[in-house]
Amino acid sequence: MALLVFLINGIMFQKGCDAMEDYLIKAIGEEEQFRVYACVTTNVVEEARRRHNTWPIATSALGRTMTAALLMGANLKGDDLLTIRVLGNGPLGAIVVTADAHGSVRGYVQNPQVHLPSKDGKLSVGAAVGRGTLSVSKDLGLKEPFTGTVELVSGEIGEDLAAYLLKSEQTPSAVSLGVLVETDNSVKAAGGLILQLMPGAREDILEKLEQGLASMPPVSSLVNQGAKPEDMVKLLTEDLPVKILDKMPVSFSCSCSRERLEQVLISMGKDELADLIEEQGEAELQCHFCAQKYHFNKQELQKILEEAEN
Ligand SMILES: [Zn+2]
Repeated sequence: MALLVFLINGIMFQKGCDAMEDYLIKAIGEEEQFRVYACVTTNVVEEARRRHNTWPIATSALGRTMTAALLMGANLKGDDLLTIRVLGNGPLGAIVVTADAHGSVRGYVQNPQVHLPSKDGKLSVGAAVGRGTLSVSKDLGLKEPFTGTVELVSGEIGEDLAAYLLKSEQTPSAVSLGVLVETDNSVKAAGGLILQLMPGAREDILEKLEQGLASMPPVSSLVNQGAKPEDMVKLLTEDLPVKILDKMPVSFSCSCSRERLEQVLISMGKDELADLIEEQGEAELQCHFCAQKYHFNKQELQKILEEAEN
């Protein structure tokens, strides 16, 4: 296959025949005046689409939220977890996504098969999300997770997260998220970036970054043309000096397991469990986050009932 070469704002991208791996980079500007996190998430979003059988609008809404959670989760430490909940009144219903500090993300959308007419050639994500709230919870291993909530601005996710970061975390931020869906519904390209200004950022740097943002093509088309996270950072920051602090792979991964779902069955209580065995004789549980199904036959359920009785 021929190598395709793209030139955008003086930066050259090469698109080869190999699928690019998904990863995230953290970069910081000179004198720590700003930071930029960027990632490519094409495989992550495709995996979510495949697992939940999402149609394009849901793929895009869930993919943007998952990409944002990875970018924000990159600021966590150790076993901390970050959850984004988008609760709109549109046909998609709730979107719930969890990410950790190590590049793992999982998530679901309540109604994965929604179709609305496109607007100006774009998927109507905002209309499908509707009005409502966006919450971010950070479970930092303390008694209560830290949670901040904002009203949705447009339901397009990126703007809504920027509003959250400004209002709840007092950090002026620009959030750019994109998912490009193929005609066969598979994910062609996905990625995102978050730019955050640190307290005391100089006016001239601010102007430069604003220019960089304004002249940047949408992230999804950049990724589609083979741009890597480093290229996105370069396009945004232009000639401002930046240092890349970290690079890590990102992937769709879920922490559910058969043992965890056994605990769910045990927590139903002895009587409920006995009824279930009597009436159904088996059980099938499905993880919301990754759509994995777990089947328990009568014998297995009886063993779980014995455990519940002890
Ligand atoms: Zn799962």
